[in-house]
Amino acid sequence: MVPRPHCKKILISAGPTCEDIDPIRFFSNRSTGKMGFALARAAKKQGHDVILVTGPTSLAPPKSCQVRTVRSAREMKKAMLKYFSKADIIIKTAAVADYRPQKTFTKKLKKQEGPLTLTFVRNPDILKALGKIKKAHQTLVGFAAETHQGLYHAKKKLKEKKLDWIILNDVSRHDIGFGSDSNEVLLMSKGGEKIRLKKQSKLKLAQKILAILLA
Ligand code: C5P
Repeated sequence: MVPRPHCKKILISAGPTCEDIDPIRFFSNRSTGKMGFALARAAKKQGHDVILVTGPTSLAPPKSCQVRTVRSAREMKKAMLKYFSKADIIIKTAAVADYRPQKTFTKKLKKQEGPLTLTFVRNPDILKALGKIKKAHQTLVGFAAETHQGLYHAKKKLKEKKLDWIILNDVSRHDIGFGSDSNEVLLMSKGGEKIRLKKQSKLKLAQKILAILLA
């Protein structure tokens, strides 16, 4: 085999997670997986080995990437932990549901008189768990999808989850973020660097993000 000195192992998570309430209903969010899939495509095109762990999406899997489809946050955690130690760069684009129903009903919940009350419990914070076991040679990157006080929340996550980089995007805008083919982001490093990437296609943005992470 031809040695590929610049080839990195890149582990990417994408999409939402779905937390089942009963056999036909679930709790989730509006993430479509487009940003994570664009990163996987761009990384593969640049010659890296890519493992994409994705929640349920309607997107075609990027060519020649190893793809693992998961459903819930707990399944995503298991998959990320499986591939984590071999990865040089880990990018957590996934919009993981922070909560899941305490109980998943095995039969369809039937409607009844009056309101329905469900209890939700916290899901594991996958990125925080990875930040705790991260080795010095690994680059750990999180996304912060925010509707308000983006800078404040992103800085907090960068520190609390022990990340090397956090990538902030504004999901209150309809022209970028969830579901859109374009995005606009601000990258912040643990060393205090700030790099703004203007609105452009998620694929172009992905190429630029990778160039920054690999510099
Ligand atoms: O949900 P939050 O805004 O904290 O997400 C920030 C980062 O943390 C994202 O990269 C997301 O993939 C990750 N995350 C996670 N597990 C969670 C919640 C978020 O890995 N339970």
